[in-house]
Amino acid sequence: MLEKTLFASWLVTWYQAYKRNLPWRETNDPYKIWLSEVILQQTRVAQGLPYYQRFVARYPSIQALACADEEEVLRLWQGLGYYSRARNLHACARVVVNELGGKFPSTYKDLLHLKGIGQYTAGAIASIAFKESVPVVDGNVYRVLSRVFGEEEDIASTRGIKVFYALARSLVPIKDPDLYNQAIMEFGAMHCTPNNPKCESCIFKAHCVAFRTGRQYALPVKSKKIKIKQRFFHYLVIQHADKLYMKCRKDRDIWQGLYDFYLIENRRLSGLDRLDDTLAALIQHHKLPVSNKPTLHKYLLTHRQLYVHFLRVQATASFIREATPLLSQTGIRSFTIAQTRALPKPILIDNFLKEEFYS
Ligand code: SF4
Repeated sequence: MLEKTLFASWLVTWYQAYKRNLPWRETNDPYKIWLSEVILQQTRVAQGLPYYQRFVARYPSIQALACADEEEVLRLWQGLGYYSRARNLHACARVVVNELGGKFPSTYKDLLHLKGIGQYTAGAIASIAFKESVPVVDGNVYRVLSRVFGEEEDIASTRGIKVFYALARSLVPIKDPDLYNQAIMEFGAMHCTPNNPKCESCIFKAHCVAFRTGRQYALPVKSKKIKIKQRFFHYLVIQHADKLYMKCRKDRDIWQGLYDFYLIENRRLSGLDRLDDTLAALIQHHKLPVSNKPTLHKYLLTHRQLYVHFLRVQATASFIREATPLLSQTGIRSFTIAQTRALPKPILIDNFLKEEFYS
């Protein structure tokens, strides 16, 4: 078994030779480190980097982010997905500025009290910004540890999470925990990758249990099967002259805080005549033209398959008069097409608008 101190020092040496130069590695400002960690959760560096740069340019400090309007933050986040991360980021900035005098808590334990900051992010900020010797355990870390040390506990189980955390904890050095934590994550992202680990040129080749026993692809063990949920969205895209009717999603559901159209959710995709809905019935009653070749979008979100059916409706003044109470009840408001550009929207709505209205 590889000695733990050697594991850490070899990793750091590897990191110093091969790390990618990324802007959040040039700073020890906890705000920027936090921002980068939140952006990079579930996101590849190539995709997250421009978002990080735009956020830092627009909000160079936590005070600037705290003063921002939530809609503007969501608009800047548009396309990254997992919008609750953006809302938490913004809410947390306000807490730090309004309740903590603008200073980030400097210990792992205190960081955990902030909304949206879990074990992983607290570990990253505490170790990288404040050099506290605490581990970070993300997917890369699970993979590297399970392969090098041959740890077979299921990383989706409560026991597995505890076992890996304890192993990770025992490996973080007192000196330079920031370098070590960045090194192990980078090693997992660049070298010991899920599908193509570079074992032949690996610093751990002689010691790695997975390599020695040919189990690189069997580790880490992750048994839990994720159940995919299917959802079927029908959007009634109501247009009257140069106005579109949209609403802000208020419920605790996907895309909270973003704008979409009048939505009917069903158990399957169907045409307007089969939608059991008052507005759909009113549209038929008024014999409004509805695009008869509705677009079908199939989107795969994490744990969800989303089937989206857009129905474009050309409204008349009398329809709008009659439909207004119903539209207001559901939070729908009218916006000029130009105004809709500035609203924060799920990327599929934005793409739809680009194709149908902005070109
Ligand atoms: S030898 Fe292969 S499996 Fe083991 S740590 Fe290196 S790259 Fe990963």
